[in-house]
Amino acid sequence: MIDAILQDLVGRHREDYKRGQVATYIPELARVDPGHLGIAIAFQDGRIVTAGESEIPFAIESISKTVVLALALLDRGEAEVFRHMRQEPSGDAFNSIVKLQTGSAHVPSNPFINAGAILTTSLIAGGSPDEKFDRILRFMQRISESPGLDLDRETYLSEKATGHTNRALAWMMKSYGDIDGDVEDILDVYFRQCSIRVTASVLAKMGRFFAAGGVLSTGERVLTAREARIVVGLMATCGLYNGTGTYMVNVGVPTKSGVGGGLLAAYSGVGGIGTFSPALDEVGNSVAGQNMMREISEKLGLDILLPTVRKENLG
Ligand code: GLN
Repeated sequence: MIDAILQDLVGRHREDYKRGQVATYIPELARVDPGHLGIAIAFQDGRIVTAGESEIPFAIESISKTVVLALALLDRGEAEVFRHMRQEPSGDAFNSIVKLQTGSAHVPSNPFINAGAILTTSLIAGGSPDEKFDRILRFMQRISESPGLDLDRETYLSEKATGHTNRALAWMMKSYGDIDGDVEDILDVYFRQCSIRVTASVLAKMGRFFAAGGVLSTGERVLTAREARIVVGLMATCGLYNGTGTYMVNVGVPTKSGVGGGLLAAYSGVGGIGTFSPALDEVGNSVAGQNMMREISEKLGLDILLPTVRKENLG
């Protein structure tokens, strides 16, 4: 049943990309074929169902912020991570600098806007940028049960060459004393984490990990339930930047987006869904991805708002 549902979705949403635009502010992302469309579901029992271009690689971008937040919580603990950052939606664009100057205490609103994400990256343990990135990559491989994950060097170089807004955010936080360490080194790790190559299937497995409360499909616990709850709770409230409210009304499932065109959704206790379609709406979220997530959520009835579980469609 679920197999037929995914095939049907991919068939009907093939043209959605025409209503969006691929990200161009990172030149390497502008080169991506906008017509790609893929979806994957990873269930808690290990089953994976896919349709379309579920194995085409693309840049993880902001979805990496979920993984780096989880690792920062393991490295530093909740109190330290949220000493210089809040857990509230910002209502501004993902790369906005406004609240750093005008918001309460000048600190980032949450770890999923760029300012908060760069701050989170600054908390990752390691003696050098290489070691920090290596720890992030290995942690991502582990929780997505995808040992082949690696850096896309062209995207990384493209981000590094053009990421001046991110530099402005980082230097602003440095000026307020909210980040320690060498700003260019921190940004280097941030640009690399955003440039890791994933697929819709990999995102689905990552979503399954968070939906299981930080437990691998083998049963091994990596995060405490509290740590997983922080990541999933922030996905629900801040996962699609200033498009999160509308998305929650339409889909009702904690999700994180990236400007590479991916979406990662965590269906608590059930599994994860990953989608890929690179054309974005004006907020920076995948157009086809959001449409497919809405339909799948209606078909499964498992959203967190008013669930009407449809077991017959899960088989
Ligand atoms: N690397 C991107 C940036 O820093 C990530 C943003 C995103 O995916 N929204 O601008």
